[in-house]
Amino acid sequence: MRVRSVDAWHLRAPLSQPFSFSQFSYAQREAMLVRLTTEDGREGWGEAYGPAAVTAAIVREFLAPLLIGRDPRAVESNWELLYARSLDYGQKGVMLAAISALDIACWDLKAQDADAPLYRLLGAAPVESIECYWTGFYFGGNEPLERRWEREARDCLEQGFQAAKMKVGLGVARDAELVEAVRHFLGSGVKLSIDANHAYMPAEAIELARRVEGLGIHWFEEPVSPLDPEAYLQVKSQTAIPIAGGECEATRFGFERWFRRRAVDFAQPDLCACGGITEGLKIATLGSLTGVHVTPHAWGSAVGQAAALHFYAARPRHPSTLTAESKLIECDQTENPFRQVIVDKPLRLEGGRWYLPHTPGLGVGIRPEAFEHYLVG
Ligand code: CA
Repeated sequence: MRVRSVDAWHLRAPLSQPFSFSQFSYAQREAMLVRLTTEDGREGWGEAYGPAAVTAAIVREFLAPLLIGRDPRAVESNWELLYARSLDYGQKGVMLAAISALDIACWDLKAQDADAPLYRLLGAAPVESIECYWTGFYFGGNEPLERRWEREARDCLEQGFQAAKMKVGLGVARDAELVEAVRHFLGSGVKLSIDANHAYMPAEAIELARRVEGLGIHWFEEPVSPLDPEAYLQVKSQTAIPIAGGECEATRFGFERWFRRRAVDFAQPDLCACGGITEGLKIATLGSLTGVHVTPHAWGSAVGQAAALHFYAARPRHPSTLTAESKLIECDQTENPFRQVIVDKPLRLEGGRWYLPHTPGLGVGIRPEAFEHYLVG
């Protein structure tokens, strides 16, 4: 099996309702998808996180020529080649996102070749489904947030979710009010996490953590700068709330310092940014050495979400116990047509759980003919 061609698509869709979090506002969604086609006509799909025009150019102009003619099943060798050839200019960010997309596509082909759903190829026992947490409660709109979020909480509960994550980052006092409101809307039985998207200085993050500690917060995500593990440690040492982070980090080399310092309780590499599945597996193994549970950040299209689900299904919790809490994977609720309209078989979400596809590979059935309407380049 050899790669005959590599295609990259930059897709864009306007949103019916813009939304924001502590760093940016979104009025449109983008996706960068890649397809590897083999000499025998098989297709493997992958996705990159981040600026789609940039990652598409990296794939087309720089990485694709390196992969053509190679066996996509040789995931370790392929990864090392792409990483080694970009090391002097890349190491993380958009270069790693582009490598991630190609790596996921290689794994899709490898699983198809093995006639197995990807999670089975990654070593998991058969599993029906994984519990998700609802990622929502974003800022934006003209309505008071409490009013909109009350409806959103009702929707979350009606869909059967038992875990949710809300945005913070509007200032400590306002955040504390809103966390209390959402806790009230969801009730005490739902796991509730908060996500600041690195909006705070350590002292502010500590103050917020102290103010909401009594509300049973499951984790506090990206409280402070992703460039500063010491700031994470400062926050972590001052609160009983577990600390999460890692969506801005990439590769085992990047994550090592977070694990060595035990700067997070939950690490959240994005498989479309951290180096793909090949590197995600190494990051998760490294995390297990220091008691950090790796649960992927997943904010992409159906391709990125499927990659995260297969990967996570294949990662046991460590240490395990007979009564261990179930694992939780991110299920973003913001508007994104690239989770439905470009695939034949969207991931089945029911009762707050994602069901693993049974077909070989990623198993979501991409329809490139549906790209036309969204195509930027
Ligand atoms: Ca986040």
